[in-house]
Amino acid sequence: MIWSKEETLSRSEIEEIQIARLKETVARVYEKVPYYRAKMDAIGLKPEHIRSLKDLKLLPFVTKQDMRDTYPFGLFAVPKDKLLRIHASSGTTGKPTVVGYTANDMKMWTEAVSRIACMGGATEKDVAQICFGYGMFTGALGLHYGLENIGATIIPSSTGNSERQIMYMKDFGTTLLVATPSYCLRLAEVANQIGVDPKKDLGVKIALLGSELLTDAMREEVHKFWGDDVKVTSNYGMSELLGPGVSGECLELNGMHINEDFFIPEIIDSETGEVLPEGEKGELVVTCIKKEGIPLIRYRTKDVTRLFYEPCKCGRTFCRMENLSGRSDDMLKIRGVNVFPSQIEEVILGFSELGPHYEIVITREGFLDKLEVRVELASPTDCFADIERIRKQVSAKIRTVLGIDVKITPESPNTLQRFEGKAKRIRDLRGI
Ligand SMILES: [Zn+2]
Repeated sequence: MIWSKEETLSRSEIEEIQIARLKETVARVYEKVPYYRAKMDAIGLKPEHIRSLKDLKLLPFVTKQDMRDTYPFGLFAVPKDKLLRIHASSGTTGKPTVVGYTANDMKMWTEAVSRIACMGGATEKDVAQICFGYGMFTGALGLHYGLENIGATIIPSSTGNSERQIMYMKDFGTTLLVATPSYCLRLAEVANQIGVDPKKDLGVKIALLGSELLTDAMREEVHKFWGDDVKVTSNYGMSELLGPGVSGECLELNGMHINEDFFIPEIIDSETGEVLPEGEKGELVVTCIKKEGIPLIRYRTKDVTRLFYEPCKCGRTFCRMENLSGRSDDMLKIRGVNVFPSQIEEVILGFSELGPHYEIVITREGFLDKLEVRVELASPTDCFADIERIRKQVSAKIRTVLGIDVKITPESPNTLQRFEGKAKRIRDLRGI
């Protein structure tokens, strides 16, 4: 089901909406947000210079640092009393980034998420269990309102108490699960431990996964535990731009459709800031054109992807962004080599002898970075030769993929830490 007619507009109709909304947004932030006005004045740019979508590239970028520098409300375009809701990012370093929603923003957010839920196969008949942490994090409430809006029944179970989550699924007839990919696997593991087979005893048919990367290997793993007929899609967003609802995969599974009447995406060379031609890989930059509270202009997401504009078999015309292969924030530099944890994950998931959980530990001996990957055996074994064989095979495979030596430490089943929210799989002990 396609939720709204905007999703099937022609390219020229989409662009007409985009330019009108862009002009209006730029004029508004120039007038209402001194921070933007100062940045534009510094390069002699006035709102009237933005005449076509090609002029978007004239506008200065906004970064997470700009949000921190103007903490808490410096980038807001409305007075605080116009806000219905405030969210903030967890902010592991420094101040959190703060976002706010007006009544219209809430409507737009709900609409954006309803579309994405439908892309993933949700209907009003679904019973949706939301296993994201409710709170300042935008994930849970974003999905909550979007799914409620399409008429689904919501179980706001949040995270934690996995056995009880399984009980709700069984007794309330959950058909749709919202979780991170890693918590989705954790729930299947707990179900198995208490004698519940997710494939036979539970009725989950749709998994809307977000907040972490969903690699192809991880998607396979979800199917292995939950069943081949479960519709597993990934969706993308970030609180700075909206929360969930920026883009989502349709059931064709060939990239995530961006809600282009709300956002204009660009791909830039992250070194030079130049806009790259269609189809090239680079950093995703997003401009909000339908937000009132905090409409970010050319926000640098630090996520690396590419955009496709050819029509999708699902009937939607909104462009698609390729599923992320890694967030640049997650990228590790080991002995001068760029390493994405998703590359290591892909190797681990390729071994049937290993479970999907792992931990990457980075240390420094002298001037040399050392990378250790703790993996978990899928089933218990005392056979040293078996463990040694797996260790050598995984280590050789990772060396082929990354080009560096990695110490592999196989652990017994169920020894590594499990996560209910975003998994923390990296321990970087170099600075300690
Ligand atoms: Zn599609």
